[in-house]
Amino acid sequence: MEYWDEKFETMPPEGMRQFQLEHLKKTVKWVYEKVPFYRNKFDEQGIKPEDIKTLEDLSRLPFTAKTDLRDNYPFGLCAVPLSEVVRIHASSGTTGKPITGPYTADDLEQWTECMARTLCAHGVRSTDICQNAYGMGLFTGGLGIHQGATRIGAAVIPISSGQTERQILVLQDFAVTVLCCTPTYALTIAERAEEMDVKIRDLPLRIGCFGAEPWTIEMRKEIEHRLGIKAMETYGLTEFGGPGTSYDCIEQNGLHINEDHFIPEVVDPVTGDVLPLGTKGELVFTAIQREAMPMIRYRTRDITTLRRVRCECGRTLIKMDKVYGRSDDMLIISGVNVFPSQIESLLLDIPEIEPQYVIILRKKGYLDQLHVDVEAKRETYEGGPQKIAEVEKKVEAKIRGIIGLGVRIRLVPPKAITRSEGKAKRVIDERKI
Ligand SMILES: [Zn+2]
Repeated sequence: MEYWDEKFETMPPEGMRQFQLEHLKKTVKWVYEKVPFYRNKFDEQGIKPEDIKTLEDLSRLPFTAKTDLRDNYPFGLCAVPLSEVVRIHASSGTTGKPITGPYTADDLEQWTECMARTLCAHGVRSTDICQNAYGMGLFTGGLGIHQGATRIGAAVIPISSGQTERQILVLQDFAVTVLCCTPTYALTIAERAEEMDVKIRDLPLRIGCFGAEPWTIEMRKEIEHRLGIKAMETYGLTEFGGPGTSYDCIEQNGLHINEDHFIPEVVDPVTGDVLPLGTKGELVFTAIQREAMPMIRYRTRDITTLRRVRCECGRTLIKMDKVYGRSDDMLIISGVNVFPSQIESLLLDIPEIEPQYVIILRKKGYLDQLHVDVEAKRETYEGGPQKIAEVEKKVEAKIRGIIGLGVRIRLVPPKAITRSEGKAKRVIDERKI
């Protein structure tokens, strides 16, 4: 079994375009009739559903932003009566109101199929044993994995996140072959196992299904090395029903988008102009098969590039690069734009330190100061103050050389940085406090 849904995963581009156009027309008509928010916005711009005649006409439609979801909280964008809704998820919402995601029975079925495609592309089969260490609950990750792995016929262990020692016990005793969680939690598990003297690399574990936070290729390699697995990425947003929007195939060089469900565009984050394929910009999706909450040109804030390439895996679905960062996460330090992922990539290249760090931004007078606390490896730390100072200088020089900013590196003792069971907090901006 190479593909879960061969028809769509290997559909020739012309057939896919026809399918997308047909469903885009239906969706635009659907939201225009059912959701006053969209009707008002389309009317303001003088656009009627019948004006959408080609896929290129998509760019005439107005964008939808995260603020629109907040303004219409909780169900203002829902296109069906709540009697037809069978599930409601919500984002973890660190600030303000959460983002709500209602599903009809058909939406749930589509999500399950998208997740089955995802896990199948990661290499998961009915013979696998999946430890699902994503948080179960309002967060879409846990149930998304649960449904997809169950659909494939794998044995799912719904352990949820946390209790790391118990996770390691189950990994060993149940002969788990697939681990599903955030990348930072995978690293936490790897580290705890090393302390417990459990050799995860020697266990049957072979695949990791990771997502829900941005991570660099260097971090992926580190996790693959420490756990002895292939680390695969699944990407998605609560606004589009959760994980399963795009996913790694065995090539691991870009994520295939389920474009029969989600039409992607990349736009200039400032002007909103659509950018040609191969250009880096903000990712925008339109969901063309969802009933309860279809989304029209939703601005994800994620920065990536779209590529229409022939993939060795045989899938014809368009690919997006691993997300480079969120436009919201971009740090402006003394006028220089920096993504935390750039700093992570550099740190992971240095053998004397652990992949655990916190970026701290401070202000001294009018000047921005970039500080990074990073954990020393035990051998480094035991090398004494001179060794520590030497490594600090080395890291500072490397960051200055590549990003062009002065930085103060502080090596902290092993385990000094708080470990995450879910999404890690890597940036503290004290300039805003
Ligand atoms: Zn592929």
